[in-house]
Amino acid sequence: MSKKGALRALPAWLSGVLVVGAFGVLVVLERRRPLRRQTQNQGRRDLRNLAIAGIAGASVGLAQKPVIGPLARLVERRRWGLVNLAGLPEPARTLLAVVLMDYTLYFWHWLTHKNPFLWRFHQAHHADLDLSATTATRFHFGEMLLSVPWRAAQVLVIGVSPRALSIWQTATTVQILFHHANLRLPVRFERWLARIVVTPRMHGIHHSIVKRETDSNWSTIFSVFDRLHGTMRLNVPQDQITIGVPAYRDERDLTFANTLALPFRRRLFGWIRPGQPFPDRGRLTLPVTTLAT
Ligand SMILES: [Zn+2]
Repeated sequence: MSKKGALRALPAWLSGVLVVGAFGVLVVLERRRPLRRQTQNQGRRDLRNLAIAGIAGASVGLAQKPVIGPLARLVERRRWGLVNLAGLPEPARTLLAVVLMDYTLYFWHWLTHKNPFLWRFHQAHHADLDLSATTATRFHFGEMLLSVPWRAAQVLVIGVSPRALSIWQTATTVQILFHHANLRLPVRFERWLARIVVTPRMHGIHHSIVKRETDSNWSTIFSVFDRLHGTMRLNVPQDQITIGVPAYRDERDLTFANTLALPFRRRLFGWIRPGQPFPDRGRLTLPVTTLAT
């Protein structure tokens, strides 16, 4: 495709306004309508999360952007990838690329839990003892670096243009902020919303210390992928959820430096807490696909 014919990506300022705006609105709403009782000093925790996020952001800027941006431009010029096979009009190609990026992120998220090496890094995100919009920014820089080959493969195989990439990145960031937010939505509205997208109660269950619950709700933007794979779990009441990773319940393990060092620890218990029972819970009354309060 000629440069003239290439569709422009979302301007950086627009993505920035949407992401920063969403973050600001969520932080205000979290104070007005909190969903779960927080257990930590929130100011210190938020600062720590944002500092971890700063390093992750720098690693994305240095290692991911210089690879993925040019790759998306090349893919568009050469018309590589699945979305270019069916002769669809441009808006349909972009939409399909965004949906397929979200679907393949489902598998990456699953892999970061199931592969012991990747889990070392993703665990730094899950070890947060509370859940709020700043948790959404708290990813270990190692996870960002390790995701570069996956992201490159996604762009190449799906055929993601710079426009589709920028829409997916912005939507994903806004949606990650939203579903980590400690925000109490009216439950009837959230039940309806969870049919389409991942919501705060739905993702809260993914951050539970109960392994069976963490092993559910892998989706990022659209919740349909969990329905498709039978991995959706909505029936856990939020006040019964303990957020975090069983092995790291002590705040001293979770300082800024210790969180960054977490993947490199020789002993990594994950779900095993020495001298403690495996976290579990009794039977829940609601069907698994009904969102509990
Ligand atoms: Zn996870």
